[in-house]
Order: sequence, then structure tokens, then C-alpha cells
Amino acid sequence: MKDEIKAHDNVLSLIGNTPLIKLNKITSKMKGNYFAKVEAFNPGHSTKDRIALYIIEQAEKRGILKPGDTIIETTSGNTGFSIAMVSIIKGYECILAVSSKSSADKIDMLKTMGAKVYVCPAHVSADDPRSYYEVAKRLHNEIKGSVYINQYFNELNIDAHYQTTGPEIWEQTAGKITHLVACSGTGGTISGTARFLKEKNPNIKIIGIDAYGSVLQKYHQTKEFDANEIYPYRIEGLGKNLIPTATDFNIIDKFEKVTDESSAHTARELAKTEGLFVGYTSGAAMQGLKQLEEDGEFNETSNIVVIFPDHGSRYMSKIYNDNWMNQQGFFDSETAEIHKIEFI
Ligand code: PMP
Repeated sequence: MKDEIKAHDNVLSLIGNTPLIKLNKITSKMKGNYFAKVEAFNPGHSTKDRIALYIIEQAEKRGILKPGDTIIETTSGNTGFSIAMVSIIKGYECILAVSSKSSADKIDMLKTMGAKVYVCPAHVSADDPRSYYEVAKRLHNEIKGSVYINQYFNELNIDAHYQTTGPEIWEQTAGKITHLVACSGTGGTISGTARFLKEKNPNIKIIGIDAYGSVLQKYHQTKEFDANEIYPYRIEGLGKNLIPTATDFNIIDKFEKVTDESSAHTARELAKTEGLFVGYTSGAAMQGLKQLEEDGEFNETSNIVVIFPDHGSRYMSKIYNDNWMNQQGFFDSETAEIHKIEFI
């Protein structure tokens, strides 16, 4: 038989089919079996590769997107990176309106990937003309032949995970999953994955991770938007100051809130205990697991799958930087002593 070169045509065929990795040390005192779906293994290093590819290919199939068109999106960084990556391969222009809360690394990465980036103030309301939502809408209206992905209000965001993440987890756990724990931002990941899993087994419990300073948990409990819940926080990509239609609140059993500080420390702990260098929201998801376990959510037979959305390299100037941690007040003198930290 003739030897054939085994190569991928381009990076896009590497999207999805991420590994499920057992957590061992960090969960050693916790009841249940814990498995992380590590989305950093996507070529764009986050779960957003899935929605970028899926939504763009759906737009192509429906004739909405034609060669040379412009793709516009609002993004905390990861979705932008993924859209820029897919745009390069498929030959589209990419314009991104991003929040000023996004790390400098993320913004530089988007530019490296050929995107045109507009940085918009983070702490203005969603309907303020300066917000990244409004800037994206305006650009979409102004640029002929542009497509606005609009991940917060696009049903295809849910569909991407229904078609990929859900079936992968079902298959990887041989249907033995009892709990799904996932961060909620747009809500696409948790809603699409849960929709598939609940169709297979309605008893699987679905738990969303939310941030203090976000409206999601309260909205889930009361079905009312409470602006008093909203205040600035540091975790990027988790929680929201509006109600995204890409979140299917009916499929989520409950939300657990986590703090900026505990999530940052838990992300660092994941690196030290499991060798998993993952992002801030992965720390948030792991922190949520710890709190849920303490509250008696799991037992010895539980098979819990947690989704870790992105890679740690995107947070080198934030949670993996000791000076940043200290500036946030996340290191008390005791922690600094343990880690022998000198602040310069
Ligand atoms: N973590 C990170 C780092 C993200 O960028 C996002 C997306 N905003 C999420 C978690 C949440 O995922 P989703 O938008 O699918 O709810």
C-alpha cells in the first residue's frame, strides 16, 4: 500500500473533539468523579472555535455570506480570535468591537490574526452608543455586505454546541454523566450542550456558573431583570449585564456564583495540581464545583463534567501575574509569605 502524507488541509479540521480529562488531586477530598472538557485543545485555544466555524458555515450554506464579505462581532476576545482565524482560512474581512476590560494580550492577538479592532468602554450600559454592542450594530449598518454574528442573540450559538460539544460529552462519558457544570456568558455552551444531554437523559443536572456583579442567577430565579445585581467585576467572559437569548434558562437547573478572587486562586491551583494551564473562567468553573460539593450537591456515584473554556496563556498579564494579583488585593500577606513573593 502506498504511504500517504497524513496532514490536515488547514487548522479548521482540528476544531472540536477536545479531550475529556479526569481531575485527580484538586478533587481528592471531594465526593464524586470529576472530568474536565478542556476546550484549550481547540486550535484557537478556546470553545469559541466551535461557534465561529459553525455560524460562518451556516451563513455560507444559507447564502448570507459571500466571498470577500466582512464579518463583524462583539467579543471579550475568544470569539474574536476564533472568527479571525476562520476568516483567514475562508477569506473574509473581520472587524471586532471589544470591551476595554479585555486583556492587552487578547487585543494584540486579535490584531495578529488580521482583525480590525475597536476597543469600547466596558462600564457603560448595553444600550449606550459607546458600548460594544452598539458600535458593532452601527458598523454592520454602515458596511455593505457585512454579517453580524451577534453571539448573544444568535440561536446558532446554541446549535453549535448541540451539534458538537453535547454529543462529544455523551460519547466520552458513555452516557454515564450525572452533572454538567459550565460557565455562562452568552449561554451558548451550557444551553446547547445541555439540550443534547437532556434529550438523552433528562435526569442530568445542569448547573451554570455566574459571576457576582452579573444578572443571570437572579434572572433565572425570578424571571425579572434586576439592574441592582450589576456592578463591575474582573472575570472576562463570565456572567452578563443583559439577558442573552442564546441562554435557554429553562434547561438550566440552577446557577452558582463565584468571586473574582477565589476563581483566580483556583485557576492557579489547577495548574499546580493537575498540570492544566487554563483560563480565568476555568478557575471560576472549578471554584463553582468546590462550592457545590461543599453544599452537598454531589455524592460518590456522581460523574460530573465541567467545561474549561480556554487556555491560560491569555491571562499572563492578569491572574498568572503576581503583581496583578497583588494589585487586586488577591494576595494577603500570608499567601505572599507561602509563595515567597517579592513585589517589584
Ligand atoms: N469563558 C470564556 C473565557 C469566554 O470567553 C466565554 C464566552 N463569553 C465563556 C466562558 C462563556 O461561554 P458562553 O458564551 O458559551 O456562555
